[in-house]
Amino acid sequence: MKNDSMIIKNARVIRPDTGTIQDSDLYIRDGRLVEDITNQDDRIPVLDIHNCFVAPGFVDLHTHVFKDHMKDAITPDEAGITLGVITVVDAGSTGIRDYPIFEQEFINKSTTDVRFFLNIARKGLCDGLSELADPEDLMTADELDAFIKQHGQRLAGLKVRMSSSIVKDQGIAPLLYGRKLADQFGLPLMVHIGNRPPELGEVLNILKRGDIVTHCFHGKKGGITDYPHEFKKAASRGVRFDVGHGTASFSYHKVSEVLKLQPVDFSISTDLYAPNIHKPVGSLMLTMSKFLHMGYSVSDLVRRVTVLPREILRMEPVNMSPGDPADLTVFKIVEKQRKLVDSEGYEIDCNRYLEPVAAIKQGKRVWNCE
Ligand SMILES: [Zn+2]
Repeated sequence: MKNDSMIIKNARVIRPDTGTIQDSDLYIRDGRLVEDITNQDDRIPVLDIHNCFVAPGFVDLHTHVFKDHMKDAITPDEAGITLGVITVVDAGSTGIRDYPIFEQEFINKSTTDVRFFLNIARKGLCDGLSELADPEDLMTADELDAFIKQHGQRLAGLKVRMSSSIVKDQGIAPLLYGRKLADQFGLPLMVHIGNRPPELGEVLNILKRGDIVTHCFHGKKGGITDYPHEFKKAASRGVRFDVGHGTASFSYHKVSEVLKLQPVDFSISTDLYAPNIHKPVGSLMLTMSKFLHMGYSVSDLVRRVTVLPREILRMEPVNMSPGDPADLTVFKIVEKQRKLVDSEGYEIDCNRYLEPVAAIKQGKRVWNCE
């Protein structure tokens, strides 16, 4: 029996590029989707998903999965396949100092596909959360050069966190330094935004096409709606925006206020770690459910956790077509009342939400969520 082949019956197949949803069976051979399986072999496993949705594997662009090294971090599989997410991206938990442990213990030993934004501070978030307060802690260009040569394969870009408690009296300087490194090595910056100083307007003006602003709908003072001019200019330059829900960084009200200024095509991610996995975040699918309640369609939500983050990660495009890798997320829509809260404590009553059913990686069912 080939264990990377499978027939998925009664699927509602979501093609995120085109936004179409089609009822059909899916065929997987040698870890990839195929048109059909001819010479049907009885031993090929059949998974009847009873009209659940199947889509390209979901990607969570902002997680913290360096358990026992960063305080409150979880494991990649806790943020990943067990929640129906195939790829998790660690957003700066590690810098170059601890990365070898992260690679050995978490990237290599997880079923979930793990990528990462490298913190520009050598110690990452492993010694507390003021990693940019001392310029002596920033990695040098030579260190980054050596790092990329040895460990560059899963590197998504550089992480720079811009909040007063992180930079202390350094202000905007760490971001300017990160900008220099990013330009020199052709990498995108993922920038955390939060409490000022530094002023967000100043932060946005430094960002270029392909950089990512995470926590874009946070409800703290000094957020995007206080800097409409800089926000619109950044969006028109091709700066990307990402949810990064987190414990303190997502406000329902800010979503419409920000998008009224400029309807940016934001990706959806969780900023998942131990305290917020219960409340207020829950999971990637519950974060998506909050937008489902706001009127976004299921296929549009899927695009925001597949097409958009895959572009950022420079992964091959997928659209549920023959030849695509069979890395798939199976989920259903549960029609039930459920309260979902944002980071400001504001609760909404949802009457339907997404729930994971299975995770399939390289044609194998690696997690059964039910
Ligand atoms: Zn984070």
